[in-house]
Amino acid sequence: MHPPDQVIDALRQAVKLAPDNHALRLHFADTLGLYGYWAEAEAEYRSVLVGMPHNSTAKVGLAKAFFQQDKHAAAMVIVEDILKSRGDNLAEGYVIHAKLLARAGDVEAGVRQYKKGIDLDPSLADDSFAERYNILPGQRPGNPSDEVVDGKLRAPAGDSVDVEPGGQIERPRISFADVGGLDSLKEEISVKIIHPVTHPEIFRAYGKAVGGGILMYGPPGCGKTYLARATAGEIKAAFLSVGINDVLDMWLGNSEKSLHAIFERARANTPCVLFFDEVDALAASRSDMRTSAGRHLINQFLAEMDGVKSSNDGVLILAASNAPWHVDTAFRRPGRFDRVLFVPPPDASSRAATLRVLVKGKPAQGIDFDLVAKKTVDFSGADLKAVVDLAVEDKILRAMKEGTPQPLTTRDIVSAAARIKPSTRDWFATARNYAIHSNQGGQYDDIVKYLGM
Ligand code: ADP
Repeated sequence: MHPPDQVIDALRQAVKLAPDNHALRLHFADTLGLYGYWAEAEAEYRSVLVGMPHNSTAKVGLAKAFFQQDKHAAAMVIVEDILKSRGDNLAEGYVIHAKLLARAGDVEAGVRQYKKGIDLDPSLADDSFAERYNILPGQRPGNPSDEVVDGKLRAPAGDSVDVEPGGQIERPRISFADVGGLDSLKEEISVKIIHPVTHPEIFRAYGKAVGGGILMYGPPGCGKTYLARATAGEIKAAFLSVGINDVLDMWLGNSEKSLHAIFERARANTPCVLFFDEVDALAASRSDMRTSAGRHLINQFLAEMDGVKSSNDGVLILAASNAPWHVDTAFRRPGRFDRVLFVPPPDASSRAATLRVLVKGKPAQGIDFDLVAKKTVDFSGADLKAVVDLAVEDKILRAMKEGTPQPLTTRDIVSAAARIKPSTRDWFATARNYAIHSNQGGQYDDIVKYLGM
C-alpha cells in the first residue's frame, strides 16, 4: 500500500473506534485533504460540525473541501460565516474568500482579501495564487505602497505603455514530432485550423467557412500549451500567447482596446497561432460574472473572434482551459470554439518519451525509462519534470556530503516519483462530477471514456 494510504487507513480505523473524538476526526479530515481526497474530507468535516457546530477549524476545512471540489456557492456560504464570526480562523477565511472572489472574476477584491489574510498570518502565503495574480513578493504588510492599486497587481495599462499586449511574438522551433502521443489531437488541429490557413482556396471553392478555433481542455501540465506552440512550429507560423496577466490588464484598464490590439497584432503577423491560455479567466460564464466590465470583455472577445470588423484570415485561434465548465457556452457556437478537445495525461509510452527528453544532458546511467513510466501512472508532463528535478536535487545533496558526484539511476528517479503526488487526480475528481452531472450534448464524453465510467 502507498504510504499516504496506510496513514489514511490507520486514521479511518481509529475514527471508527472512537467516533466521538472530534479532535481525531478533525485530524483525519485534514489528512484526507492533504492527500487530495476532498469528497471524503468534506464528509468528515460535516460530521465534526454536527457535534460541534461552532468549530471554526472544521468550518475552514469544509470551506476548503467545497472550494477544491468546485462547489463555489457552498464554499462562499461557509466563508461568509467564518468572516462574520471573526473567530480564530479569520486569516484562513480571508484567503479562501480571496480565491473564491478571484475564481468568480472579481480579481481586485480577491487580491484585497488575500492581503488581509496574509497580514494576519504570513504563513498562509500561497505562492501559486500570488504568482497567478502577480502579487509581488517581499512587500511587508502595513507598508503604504502595499495597496492593491499600487502595484500589487500588475501595473494597470497606464504604467505599461511600451509593453505590447499579449507578450512577445515567438517563432517556435518545436513541431508536432516533438510532442509525445496526442495523435488524434494533432490530426484535428491539422484538419480544422492548419489546412484552412495553408489552403484557403480549396475551402472557399467548396463553400466551407473558414474560421473559429479549438479549445483544448484537460488536467494542467499535460501539454496543451506545448501543443499550441508546436502547431505554430509545424507550419512555421508566428506564435502569440495571451496569458492570465494580459487578461488581468484588461480587467484593470483598457480592456477592449488591449484585446483588440492583441488580435490586430496576430492579424499583422499572419500566419499566426493566437493562443489563449487559461481562457476560462477571460471567458467565464456570463451568469457568473458580477461586473458589467466582465460581460463587456466577453462580448468584445466574441466580436473579435467572429471577425466582425477585421478579417481573421491567417490567424489560427487556439485556447486552453483546465476548467472548461466555466467557459461561457456562447464561446462554443459554430465559428467560435466549435471544437472542444480533451488533452489526456500522457500514456506510458509518452511518459517514457517525456522522461527521456527531461534526463537528456544530465549525468545518468542505464536508466530504464519504461520502468519509470510504469511507476508514474497519472503523472502529467509537468509532474514528470518535478520528479526529475527532485531526483537531481537529491543527487546534488548526496554529492555535497560525499564529495563525489554520482550519475542518476533508475532507482533515484523511482524514489523521487514516490514522493510526488500526481497532480491529475484532483482534476479528474472534479471533472468526473461535471461528466456525470452536466454532460449536455455529450461535451465531456471523452472524460467518460477516459475514466471508463
Ligand atoms: P498545460 O498547458 O496543459 O498546462 P504544458 O503544455 O505547459 O501544460 O506542459 C508542461 C510541460 O510538460 C511542457 O512544457 C513539456 O515540457 C511537458 N509536456 C507535456 N506534455 C508533453 C508531451 N505530450 N510531449 C512532450 N512534452 C510534454
